[in-house]
Amino acid sequence: MNAAPSILWFRQDLRLHDQPALLAAAAGPVIPVYILDDDTPGDWRMGAAQRWWLHHSLTALAGDLEALGSRLILRRGPAVKTLQALMKESGAEAIHAIRHYEPWWRAAEEELGEALCLHDGNHLARPELVTTGGGKPFRIYSAFWKGLQGHLPPEHPLDPPEALTAPAHWPKSETLADWALLPTKPDWSTGFDADWTPGEAAGRERIADFVAKATAYDTARNMPSEEGSSRLSPHLHFGEVSPRAVWYALDRHADTETFRKELAWRDFTDGVVMALPDYADRNGREAFDRLPWRKGKEADADLKAWQTGRTGYPIVDAGMRQLWTTGWMHNRVRMIAASFLIKHLLIDWREGERWFWDCLVDADYGNNSVNWQWVAGTGIDANMFGRIMAPLTQSEKFDAGDYIREWVPELRHLPDAAIHDPDVAGCRPKGYPAKIIGHREGRERALAAGKAARG
Ligand code: FAD
Repeated sequence: MNAAPSILWFRQDLRLHDQPALLAAAAGPVIPVYILDDDTPGDWRMGAAQRWWLHHSLTALAGDLEALGSRLILRRGPAVKTLQALMKESGAEAIHAIRHYEPWWRAAEEELGEALCLHDGNHLARPELVTTGGGKPFRIYSAFWKGLQGHLPPEHPLDPPEALTAPAHWPKSETLADWALLPTKPDWSTGFDADWTPGEAAGRERIADFVAKATAYDTARNMPSEEGSSRLSPHLHFGEVSPRAVWYALDRHADTETFRKELAWRDFTDGVVMALPDYADRNGREAFDRLPWRKGKEADADLKAWQTGRTGYPIVDAGMRQLWTTGWMHNRVRMIAASFLIKHLLIDWREGERWFWDCLVDADYGNNSVNWQWVAGTGIDANMFGRIMAPLTQSEKFDAGDYIREWVPELRHLPDAAIHDPDVAGCRPKGYPAKIIGHREGRERALAAGKAARG
């Protein structure tokens, strides 16, 4: 008699290396499955940029599984019901999966009960274990990093299985074409194709490329005109590479502490959303529920100008256009653009968070919400609403001239003296908009609004 198969439920862990759930399932026949679930996450279903990535990542994963004598079964629907139906249909006795911290996945994991065997693999340490002395999640990153030390180094990454046993009967699969994850009209993905190769093999290559320049990260990461950061975020979000694999690829003898600290931010943000599951929808500090955000026609027009990169602030516009064209934005520019929307335009941070959710290939529930609330100063951490980034000064300080020239072609011919603020030298070109609001005016309005919220 054939042994009963196990289901391997892939989610944001689309890899074969360091995949403990897969290894556990591989003790017998295994049915690898990915479920496109637009119901369970509710409003937080995947955005358009992530769908583009997912299409290509699943194509790569299916190929990798075939090389091991297996297949990837594709199903669409609410995850719990779909898995329960698949268990019945295939005679599977267990489901193996890596643990995730998005609130909808935690609810689904609970509903599946004993049928589900959960494994750890997407964090440096389990967020449940890295807590304050009182057992609560850390609110401040620096304290979290200290707390994490007791759990480092992480466990060593696991090798992939050498082969996988097929079940006696393969369940039916939908096709990726059925899912229409790629854009058609208009096809906005040309810039994505030019910048990215989704999938585990490409993720592992990106690690190797980055390791060679990791010691320069400390300074280079803040310079938008340089490729100084790892650009691993979509690979990490989709779990094509594990953080443990990244950790151990770094040279132990070189100074890579700054980078390791950034890598640990993912663990921190999952700890936050574990404790506060609706963090993406609610201010971390209630006082900010009273903040008089701008609303109405004028605010809508300003939001549109921000989204389309037409605010008249070169660094903000460059970032927003990079985001639209490639599905990614440099971290320093994410901070500047987010601060500009929230403070200078006094538009609710959740509007920006939603736009990023739809446009980012690395859009991640924990990372996105925690960073937006951090920039806003509405969160549980210590950042202040009154901390307002000056976009023109930031642009100059981090030498963003070439970055602006790349993403805002109207300004390509401007000399260094005018690139950050074309008004200084009186050379704002005709086709490029005037500043949507003056820096001082925006700053004062934001400070007054913050004061009104605090009472
Ligand atoms: P590196 O600098 O090479 O860092 C390595 C990895 O560490 C990243 O890939 C990422 O997984 C993690 N990391 C680094 N910085 C952070 C951080 N501040 N918070 C959380 N993780 C971090 N990151 C996302 O992955 N998804 C998001 O949806 C997201 N939204 C953001 C929204 C705003 C407003 C801001 C300011 C930041 C956001 N970030 C988000 C964090 C950060 O901008 C990106 O992780 C980083 O730019 C990705 O580029 P990289 O892979 O080259 O990063």
